[in-house]
Amino acid sequence: MAVCYNCKTEFNGKFCPTCGAAAQAGPAPVQVAPRVAPPVYTNVSVAPPVASTSVMGWIGWMFLIGCLPLLGLIIMALAATDPSAKNFAKANLLIILILTIISLLIVGAMFLLGFGLAATSN
Ligand SMILES: [Zn+2]
Repeated sequence: MAVCYNCKTEFNGKFCPTCGAAAQAGPAPVQVAPRVAPPVYTNVSVAPPVASTSVMGWIGWMFLIGCLPLLGLIIMALAATDPSAKNFAKANLLIILILTIISLLIVGAMFLLGFGLAATSN
């Protein structure tokens, strides 16, 4: 007694009477499971964790800025690895820039006012 691998009909002999498939010698071959491709882990570039600026780090930056007010901030904005420290330096530079522009405008206005007063007094 054999079972046709094709149509599952039980039969005796070398060929299946239903579909004509040849009887198999021995047990039916174990179906090989399709090889599942291993998951491909794409190299996701994980940025290394940025160390936040320590207390000593901040003291160092403050010391630098204290010694070199403008240059220290520029160095800090360029060299700091901590983005917060970088932003701190950039914010300070921006404030200095704005204050410089405002003070220049005031000085300029005073000059113009002075010239104007000098012109009208004569
Ligand atoms: Zn058959």
